[in-house]
Amino acid sequence: MATATLSGTEPMSEPAEKPPENFCPAMAANNNRPVRPESACGSSRNCATVPGQTNSSTAGQHTVRTASPEEIQWLAEQSRRLESATAEEILQWAVERYFPRFTMATGLGPEGCVIISMLAKIEPRVYVFNLDTGYQFPETLALRERIAEKYGIVVDLQRPELSVQQYEALNGGPVYKTDPDRCCFDRKVRVLHRVAANFDAWATGIRRDQSPTRANTPIVKWDAKFGLVKISPLANWTRKDVWRRIMEEGIPYNPLHDQGYTSIGCWPCTRPVGEGEDERAGRWSGTAKTECGLHT
Ligand code: SF4
Repeated sequence: MATATLSGTEPMSEPAEKPPENFCPAMAANNNRPVRPESACGSSRNCATVPGQTNSSTAGQHTVRTASPEEIQWLAEQSRRLESATAEEILQWAVERYFPRFTMATGLGPEGCVIISMLAKIEPRVYVFNLDTGYQFPETLALRERIAEKYGIVVDLQRPELSVQQYEALNGGPVYKTDPDRCCFDRKVRVLHRVAANFDAWATGIRRDQSPTRANTPIVKWDAKFGLVKISPLANWTRKDVWRRIMEEGIPYNPLHDQGYTSIGCWPCTRPVGEGEDERAGRWSGTAKTECGLHT
């Protein structure tokens, strides 16, 4: 169990075992490619080990840090305090407290693009990544290039160990058709676990008004699933707020939004929505599934 620090700016994780010399866990988690920031290497933390799940082809171990009740309570207090803060102030708080062990995951939706525009002013060295399932729309990947051009922030692509071709061959066809929960787990959740091992906190673009499952999203919380502090600087923004900011500042966005796609994920599991439909109605349409498992 990690020891929480309840005041000041001291890190909340206590040092644990020193990694072996020449071993960089951040690079190991990144398929041995360099990661930014370099200081994300050399993780030392108090971890509980949980097994990888479901797909024997990618069997492995993920480590997930645990938090003490005091740390969880402290985060809840911070969340209440930040409820009236601006999104920029929330990000500033996160950067001051956790950078460089602070990261942001984005599906390159409108909210993510807004947060990147803020990080470009607050701390452009924050490591931003995208879970590249192999099933993303070409427009989404092209948006990544436009973001890099405008803000100088290169959204890193974090991929599953198996390519789409390998994954489908191993499973007798597209898993999204037969078991989308497993597909999301293998192509997204497992990858986030791998990345999470190198950070203490992550930011997401989720908003309370996106869906009933997100209605109670706190600004800051302990994310037990990934062993990270989870920060949602846009939790109390509305969809209108997001688009107003995009239009006011000329923030790049996915052109598919102009074609009725209000929420964009992987192409096999996303359709445009009709008039009056819920914002996320086009995700996993026709099934009971509403979330990929990153936020539940
Ligand atoms: Fe697979 Fe669909 Fe989940 Fe993408 S959204 S990982 S294609 S089930």
